[in-house]
Amino acid sequence: MTIRTIIAATLALATSAQAAPDDRIAIAAKLRDTALAGNPAWPLLVDLTDSVGQRLAGSEAEARGRAWAKAAMQKLGLVNIREEAFPITFWQRGQESARVLGSNHSLAITALGNSGATPAAGLTAPVACFDTLAALRAAPDAAVKGRIVFIDHRMTVTQDGSSYGINGGVRRAGPAVAAQKGAAAVMIRSLGTDHHRNPHTGSTSFPAGTPAIPAVALALPDAELVGRLCARGPVQVHLVSTPTSQPGQSANISGEIPGSVPGEIVVLGGHLDSWDIGQGVFDDGAGVAITLAAAATIKASGQQPRRTVRVVLWGSEEIGVVGGRAYGEAHKQENIVLAGESDFGADRVWRVESRVAATGLPLFSEIAAALAPLGVQPQPGNDSGGGADVGPLAALGSGVLELAQDGTRYFDYHHTPDDTLDKVDRAQLDQNVAAWTTAIWLAASDDRPLRTKP
Ligand SMILES: [Zn+2]
Repeated sequence: MTIRTIIAATLALATSAQAAPDDRIAIAAKLRDTALAGNPAWPLLVDLTDSVGQRLAGSEAEARGRAWAKAAMQKLGLVNIREEAFPITFWQRGQESARVLGSNHSLAITALGNSGATPAAGLTAPVACFDTLAALRAAPDAAVKGRIVFIDHRMTVTQDGSSYGINGGVRRAGPAVAAQKGAAAVMIRSLGTDHHRNPHTGSTSFPAGTPAIPAVALALPDAELVGRLCARGPVQVHLVSTPTSQPGQSANISGEIPGSVPGEIVVLGGHLDSWDIGQGVFDDGAGVAITLAAAATIKASGQQPRRTVRVVLWGSEEIGVVGGRAYGEAHKQENIVLAGESDFGADRVWRVESRVAATGLPLFSEIAAALAPLGVQPQPGNDSGGGADVGPLAALGSGVLELAQDGTRYFDYHHTPDDTLDKVDRAQLDQNVAAWTTAIWLAASDDRPLRTKP
C-alpha cells in the first residue's frame, strides 16, 4: 500500500465522525483533507528549483530566490509582504581537489562553509588521523602541528536525525580545534549516510583569534580509503581549496493572512538559502513550498483565523542561522505566540512536538487528534527545540510547534549534489502540507496562551 492509500483509508474513517461544520476542529479536518487532495506545494517546489536553483547565502541566486518568494506570496493571496535585510559574510568556494601522494587516489572533497583557503597551488602535508573529535581534542599539539587532520567519526541512520546532533560537532567545531593546535588543514568524513562519492558540505566556524584554516569534507568511500591508508602507515595529501569571504547581504521574507484579532502572530516557514553544490530541494526548498502551500490552503478556504498567520522565509540559515538570529532581534517586541519551521526534507511528518505554556497543552491535544489520521504521533514531553531559525524566537518566549519529518533518508542527500527534485515523493510532500495546514489553523483559530515567557 502506498502512503496515499493508507492516508485515504484512515481519512475516510475519521471524516465520518465529524462535528458541526462551523466548529474550528471540523474546519481543521476539512482543511486537512483539502490540502491532502490538492495543494500548490509541488508546483511551487518545481518552479523554485527550475527557475532559481541553488541559493547560496549572500549570492545573486539567493536574491532571485527572494524575488521568487515575494511573487509567490502575492500570487497565493498573502499580504503585508516584507523583505528585511541583514549583513552577512559572503563565503564562496573556489577550486577544490585532493590527492594522496605516491598513489593514484584522488579524493572526492567539498570545502566547508566559512573555511579558509590553501595557497592557489595547494599545500602538501602528512595526515594525522583521529577516529573522533574527542580523540583530536585529547591529542598533544605536537601530533597535529603542520599536519592535515583527518577526523573519521561515523554517523548512523536515524529516523529522528539524532545522529546528526551527536556528530555535528565534528564539522562545526573540529576545524577550529585543529587550528588551535596548529594544524595546516582539516578533512572530515562527511556528515552523511550514503555511500556515493558525494561529499556533504555544511558550515564550520572559527572563534575570534583562531585562524580560519582550510577545511573540507570527504565522501564516505573516500573517508574509508583514507582511514585504511592511515592504518597501513604514513599518508601524505596534496590539498587545494581556495574559497573566498567578503562582506555581503541577505534578507528574510515574510507575508501574512491577517487575523481577526490583531496583536497575536503564529509563524511558520522554512529557509530560502541553500548550499551551492545541490539544488536546495530537500534543504530547504521543500520547507518553503510546504509552509507557503499550508498558508495558501487556509487563505483559499475563506476562513479567517483569529490570530495572524505569518509565513517567514529565512535567509542565510546554512552559514550559521544568521537570518533566524536577525529575525529574532528585529521582532523581539512582537507577540509571536507560536513558531515552527519545516527544515528536514520532504518526507512525511511522523511526530508532533511542542514547547508551550501549560495553558497551550490542550491545543496540542487537539492538534495531535487532528493529525492522527495522517499517521502522526504526539511526542511525549513539552521540550521541542523547533527548527534552527525558530530557536531565537523560542529563546524570547515564543511557543514552539515542531512537525518532525521522517529523516531515514535525509542524510543521504543533505548538503550534496544529490539534493535534487527527483528525490521528492509527492504524496509525502502533500502529507506535510496537510499536517502544517491543520496544526496552524488550530493554533491560529485559538485564544489559549502559548508563550513560555511574557
Ligand atoms: Zn536546512
